[in-house]
Amino acid sequence: MIIRSASYICSSTSLQQCPKSEKPEFGFIGRSNVGKSSLINLLTGYSRLAKISGNPGKTKTINHFLINGSWYLVDLPGYGFAKVPLSMRDKWIGAVEEYILNKETLACLFVLLDSRHQPQKSDLLFMEFLGRNQIPFARVFTKSDKLSSDKLEKSIHIYNKEMIKIWESLPETFVVSVVNKTGREEVLGFIEETINKLSKPA
Ligand code: GDP
Repeated sequence: MIIRSASYICSSTSLQQCPKSEKPEFGFIGRSNVGKSSLINLLTGYSRLAKISGNPGKTKTINHFLINGSWYLVDLPGYGFAKVPLSMRDKWIGAVEEYILNKETLACLFVLLDSRHQPQKSDLLFMEFLGRNQIPFARVFTKSDKLSSDKLEKSIHIYNKEMIKIWESLPETFVVSVVNKTGREEVLGFIEETINKLSKPA
């Protein structure tokens, strides 16, 4: 997919505030510092579209970007709100959950995982939550340049072994590196394919 245009539309703190449009939405979510802003910038080719956070755990909103005038890239707040008071944390989690469960145009949620880390309970539980609620999602292993190809393969294998204990099959999986600029075409190709499938129902 060629990105011809990418523009920031709005930041919302509830589903109610999100754009009401029939256009498909592709969400990006993960723990703070996983590389979400960097990936959004790599995908869109706009280096400052999503600000690269210098403050892990800071509060964030649901951010909509319109791509090629035809689909939304949605930057969702990372889980791990270390610096947010508990009461506010509940509010943000509520808004994200509300968005994920009720946004009918959400075509796929990309769950970002740091490829250097062992499977983390919060990520596994989050994906179980998506599965239970039949929310389409894909895994994106980030920062792959930080591992040798052997170690990367091993790390993903460990992840798969953990997930296959409870999943019948593994989700669609991508491996990206912002430093090496790898994985971009694969993720964008998948988005394009998903949009095409939506416009031509079987
Ligand atoms: P966010 O909090 O999930 O939005 O994460 P950021 O995009 O702000 O990235 C967190 C840190 O990881 C920053 O210092 C980035 O430069 C770094 N980072 C992100 N992606 C990559 C990557 O693919 N490779 C490497 N080596 N560093 C990355």
